[in-house]
Amino acid sequence: MKTLRQYGMALGLAISLAPHPGYPFPCVRSGVEDAPRRGFHVNQERLREALEKLSEFGRPAGTGFEGGVTRVGFSEADLAAREYLMGLMRAAGLEVRVDPAGNIFGRRAGTENLPVILFGSHIDSVPRGGNFDGDVGSMAAIEVVRALNEHRVRTRHPLEVVIWTNEEGHHFGKGLFGSSAAAGLLAPEVLERRDEEGRTLAEWLRGYGQDPARFGEARIKPGSLAAYLELHIEQGAVLDEAKIQIGVVQGIVGINWWTCVATGFANHAGTTPMNRRQDALAAAARAALAVREEVRAEPGRQVGTVGYVKVEPGARNIIPGRVEFPVELRDLDAAKVERIWARIQKRFEQIAREENVRIECTPLSSDTPALTDPALRDAIREAARAAGFSTLDLPSGAGHDAQQMAKLAPIGMIFVPSRGGVSHSPREFTPWEDVANGAEVLYRTILLLDERLNR
Ligand SMILES: [Zn+2]
Repeated sequence: MKTLRQYGMALGLAISLAPHPGYPFPCVRSGVEDAPRRGFHVNQERLREALEKLSEFGRPAGTGFEGGVTRVGFSEADLAAREYLMGLMRAAGLEVRVDPAGNIFGRRAGTENLPVILFGSHIDSVPRGGNFDGDVGSMAAIEVVRALNEHRVRTRHPLEVVIWTNEEGHHFGKGLFGSSAAAGLLAPEVLERRDEEGRTLAEWLRGYGQDPARFGEARIKPGSLAAYLELHIEQGAVLDEAKIQIGVVQGIVGINWWTCVATGFANHAGTTPMNRRQDALAAAARAALAVREEVRAEPGRQVGTVGYVKVEPGARNIIPGRVEFPVELRDLDAAKVERIWARIQKRFEQIAREENVRIECTPLSSDTPALTDPALRDAIREAARAAGFSTLDLPSGAGHDAQQMAKLAPIGMIFVPSRGGVSHSPREFTPWEDVANGAEVLYRTILLLDERLNR
């Protein structure tokens, strides 16, 4: 059996083990179920209650917490949940405002004239999603403020909790909606998009109490943020399998999409001999395997996927004449993605020659990787170790609002384990201890940054 450290090396990851005798399960649990955990500032039970209450907004009829949630951005369930959250924020003494993109901010004043330390997440879900994606980071942000109040902690920097609008982007097909608007990355034309019921995004924003004409004002002024922090469930299985309590996110991978078309010649499947075919599907099938081989050809955690094929004409007695398929590549290192894509293109050219077809690929979109800030990573690691937790540095394979904030400020992300790596499913689960661990690390990281950052 490999040790944890060897396991990490094998994955190309940096592991740091907390110098704690109780590793990997430090004895921080209190003997009394609803008493605060020893050495903890945040309150696990209060955080759990808030998450359970939040799960009621958009809960499928006839189910419980385990039944997951359907609370897509810009929906009645989302609107009601936001009201609940804003109530909690006001009760925690936060000064609440909503920007023209619907993002909710709750401000706690600092003692000095310094830029804001911003932290939070989102509460919208995918259809039939789980009760942890986004919710954990949002509710933990509010719990941190409650804990700071209880411990009478004043910070030098103003603190702001943020709840981003429509992160999943299920509604209107625009993910990271609120954070993109805050980063100034969205043209106002996006507001003209219509949903299945014919309602525009602008109409929804009005329903959320906002004036679409002022959409551009959602942009956060450069220089006004000292740092952005987000706690999130991992949504993968690395932490769960390695039995590590806290993930220190190295960055959010870049996502690169191409749409490729293999063009052959549709012909009679009975009368065309095998050596005279221009079979677009045979070429596309080889292309899909070539993508996998080239992605695997070098070490690292990069991933590549061919997610569908559209075959035309698509009949069992016709040789496929045209096949459309996408290529998706993800990694933290943009240069590596470029290198792999160059090799894939060479392979496609060769396959096209051998199969007597044409393969053409056009780039559809490319999100550059968003690296987290080394000083913020250090602070998260130190905060986690001081609380007695094991940590692991790892990339995020999923997109997050933090990647848009990276355009404005240094970012840091804290991951907690997802059981079995399941996410975007009612079966998504993170043990309550882990949820509280993440919140505690968020609390401590904010205080470390407040001490260290002088901008
Ligand atoms: Zn999320």
